[in-house]
Amino acid sequence: MNKLDTSNTNKLIDRFGRQVTYVRLSVTDRCDFRCQYCMSENMQFLPRQKLLTLEELASVGKTFSSLGVNKIRITGGEPLVRKNIIWLFEQLGQMEQIKDLTLTTNGSQLHKYAKNLKSAGVTRINISLDSLKAKRFNDITRVGDLKQVLKGIDSAIAAGFDKIKLNSVIMKNHNHDEILDLVAFAIERNIDISFIEEMPLGIINSHGRDKTFYSSDEVRKDIEAKYSLNSSNKKTSGPSDYYDINNSDTSVGFISPHSHNFCENCNRVRVTAEGRLLLCLGQEHSVDLRDIIRRNPGDLEKLRNSLIEAMKLKPKSHEFNVNVEPVILRYMNMTGG
Ligand code: SAM
Ligand code: SF4
Repeated sequence: MNKLDTSNTNKLIDRFGRQVTYVRLSVTDRCDFRCQYCMSENMQFLPRQKLLTLEELASVGKTFSSLGVNKIRITGGEPLVRKNIIWLFEQLGQMEQIKDLTLTTNGSQLHKYAKNLKSAGVTRINISLDSLKAKRFNDITRVGDLKQVLKGIDSAIAAGFDKIKLNSVIMKNHNHDEILDLVAFAIERNIDISFIEEMPLGIINSHGRDKTFYSSDEVRKDIEAKYSLNSSNKKTSGPSDYYDINNSDTSVGFISPHSHNFCENCNRVRVTAEGRLLLCLGQEHSVDLRDIIRRNPGDLEKLRNSLIEAMKLKPKSHEFNVNVEPVILRYMNMTGG
């Protein structure tokens, strides 16, 4: 990889004075699941040459890290289905400026990779889990095997990451009756859990998103019927609001793009699997990093300047609305959730 001049202490600061310190890198749009809220049943995936190569992804990580980014989350699609992905974690794990190297996964491959990820320098893992009922889990993911994911969660706990967090997307009349069971599952394992409001990304045919919408406030009310929650001063660089659950080591987070606008403190950008820098999850402002990288092979300065320049495009806020047709036609697996 090319040397990069880091003497210039430029940071990534947008027009609204927000500094970007957190990047979510999508390493593939492919996945071994087909979650109803994320994908349509028959997805067309990108041809391989359209994806950033692992080397290109490492260069992107390095360039961001030279600009004050200290947290990288690897996501997808399902990151652990990408061939040789551990190599990328090893590269990023060696970058001194990256203090927090994290992964979002559906857990299906974790039983194979948990130890390697830990050795590569991954600090924290988010594992998606929407149901503890095997049949329902299989319905929501269309193909997933709950047993395998539970095995993956156990492997991650055994590997000793700093933090493990479950992510649950709650849909009314699909899994909202499992909120307390999911919380109990997290408490038993001393891990955290976040509940995510479904976002209208991409057109799906399994359900109307307005019918399944279940707000974070409703989730919280359900939890408070059994547990007492204390507002936590824990702040990750993500958009969750955290609460500690009394008499446990578990925190519960609420990610609420609809009901609570989290844009004001936004510190992050995303890079899609095909190398599009997305300045906002809920908007289309973007820069084609793949084009810049491939037109200027080895010239990380060019990439660096493009990232600084791109900050001018970061919009003030997203425009999600479950009650109208999605304005964002990208699916979550393309975006990197
Ligand atoms: N495959 C990995 C996984 O499932 O964790 C990583 C990628 S996935 C796109 C990242 C997160 O986005 C998951 O927690 C998933 O539940 C969530 N997600 C996917 N589609 C969503 C949607 N339409 N609204 C809200 N969350 C969504
Ligand atoms: Fe795959 Fe994750 Fe999307 Fe589910 S949410 S289909 S596991 S990318």
